[in-house]
Amino acid sequence: MSTTQTAAKHWIDGQWTDSDEHRESVNPATGEVIGSYAMAGPKEAQSAIEAARRAFADPAWRANRLLRAKVLNRMADRFEERADDLVELLGLENGKTHDQGRLEVAFAPETLRFNAALALTDTGTNSQVTDGELSMVVRQPVGVAGIIAPWNSPVALGIRSLAPALAAGCTAVMNLPWQTAQTNSLIAGLVGGTPGLPAGVANTITGGHVSGDVLVRSPDVPTISFTGSTATGRQISAAASANLKRVGLELGGKTPLILFEDADLELALPIVVSALIVFSGQFCMTGSRLLVHEHIADRVRRDLAALLEAVKVGPASDPASDMGPIIDKPNVERIDKIVDDAISQGAQVMVRGGPVTDGPLAVGAFYRPTLLEVTDNSMPIVQEEVFGPVLIMQTFTTEAEAIAMANDSQYGLSASVFSRDVDVPLRVALALESGSVWVNDWARLHDQFEEGGFKGSGVGRMRGFAVMDDFVEFKHIRLRPGTTPAV
Ligand code: NAD
Repeated sequence: MSTTQTAAKHWIDGQWTDSDEHRESVNPATGEVIGSYAMAGPKEAQSAIEAARRAFADPAWRANRLLRAKVLNRMADRFEERADDLVELLGLENGKTHDQGRLEVAFAPETLRFNAALALTDTGTNSQVTDGELSMVVRQPVGVAGIIAPWNSPVALGIRSLAPALAAGCTAVMNLPWQTAQTNSLIAGLVGGTPGLPAGVANTITGGHVSGDVLVRSPDVPTISFTGSTATGRQISAAASANLKRVGLELGGKTPLILFEDADLELALPIVVSALIVFSGQFCMTGSRLLVHEHIADRVRRDLAALLEAVKVGPASDPASDMGPIIDKPNVERIDKIVDDAISQGAQVMVRGGPVTDGPLAVGAFYRPTLLEVTDNSMPIVQEEVFGPVLIMQTFTTEAEAIAMANDSQYGLSASVFSRDVDVPLRVALALESGSVWVNDWARLHDQFEEGGFKGSGVGRMRGFAVMDDFVEFKHIRLRPGTTPAV
C-alpha cells in the first residue's frame, strides 16, 4: 500500500493501492512510454469487492439519498474542474484529438448531475388495491455493482455505469482497462477523493479480463454493468448465469447511415465523415455502413471520397489533426487485414486509406479512413464490427429495401436517417431494429433519454429513467392496516 502516486494505482477502500505487477503505458501516436501502472489481478479485484461489501453493509450510504445526491454533484464539479487534464491524458494515452476528448469528458459531469437528481426523485408506486388495504413497491439497491468499461471512452463509459449505481445506493467496483491506466488513475482520484464519499463505496481498479472475470463470478457482486464487445458480452452473460446475477450489456454495433434521395448532402456528408472518424472509428456508434439511394450514389461516391481523402490524420498534440491514432499497432494490423480480406472477397475500393507507413507518423498507430463499396449484405465486412475508420457503402432503390438491408444485421445499437421529407424519417426510424435513431444527425446522446441496443448490441439501458433498473430490486409490500374496527 502506498500514499504517493509514483505509478498509476488502484483506489480501494478509500486509498491508493499498489500491485505486485507493474506495466508501462504507451502513447499510441509515438510509441513512447508515458508512465507506469499497477495491473490488477484476482487479489486486487477481491479486495475491492470486500471493501465494497463492507461499505454496503453500513447504511451510511445506501440509506441516505441526500448524501448520495450531494456527493454525486460534488463529483460532477470535480470532473468539470479537471476536464482539461482529462482531455490532455485522453490525447496522450488514448489518441483522441482534443475536440474529441472534450466531447467525451463533457459527458461525465452531466451524467453525474442527472443521477444526483435521480437519487432525489426515488418514487415507487402504491395503490389501495382493495378498500382499506394498501400495496406499495419500494426500490432497494442490490448491493455491490461490478462495472466493466472498455478503453475507447473510459471517462464517459465508466461514469455512465458508476453514477446510476451510486445514485441507487449500491457500492461499486469499477474495472477500467489497462490501455488507459493513466486516465483511470485520474478518474479514480476524482471519484474516490470526493468529499463525503465513504471509504469503500466507489473502488476503481485498472485491469483486464482476469480482474473483470473475478467481478463476474463473485457471489458478492449481484449485478454487472458491462460495456464492451458482443463476444465478451456473451461470455460474461454465460459466466454470470452461474450465480443468476443480473447483467446490463452495452455492446458492439454496426451503425447504418441511410441517405435518401432527397437528403441534404451538404449537411449529411460532413456528418458521415464525423461518424466515421470520431475516436478514429473506435466508437460503438461509429457510422460504418452507408446505405445510399441509387439516384444520388455517383455524387456521394465522388464527394465523400474527396472529404475522406482530406481528413488530416495526426497526433492529438497537433491542433490541426482531424483524427488521432488507433489504440495500438496490433489493432492497425487487425483492421488492415479485415480490409484486405474484404477486397479479396470482391469489395470495390473507393478510398483505400490504411496504415501510415512513411514520414514522422509511421512510428505511431495511424490508419487513414477507408471507403469500400459492396453489393452483398452477407459479407463479413458488412456484418462484423471493424472498430476502425472503415466505411462500407451499399446502394438501394426503395425505402423497404433500405430498411431490410439495415435490419439484416446481428447488431441494433444505432442508426441515422438523412432525408428532407416529413414522413419518411419517422416511418423508417420506427421500422429500424435499433436502440437509437437520429434524423439528419448522428450520435446525439442525452442523459434523460435511454441508450442501448436491440439484438446483439445489448441488454438493458444506460441513461434515461430506466438507468437504475440494473441496480435496484423492486419489493412489493402489502399492508393491511387498521384491522380493528373504528370506534
Ligand atoms: P472487450 O469486450 O474486448 O473488453 C472490454 C473490457 O472487458 C476489457 O477492457 C476487459 O477489462 C473486460 N473483459 C474482457 N474479457 C472479459 C471477460 N471474459 N470477463 C470479464 N471482463 C472481461 O471490448 P474492447 O475491445 O475493449 O472495446 C470495444 C468494444 O466495446 C466494441 O465492440 C465496441 O462497440 C464496444 N462498446 C460498446 C459501447 C456501448 O455503449 N454499446 C460503448 C463503447 C464500446
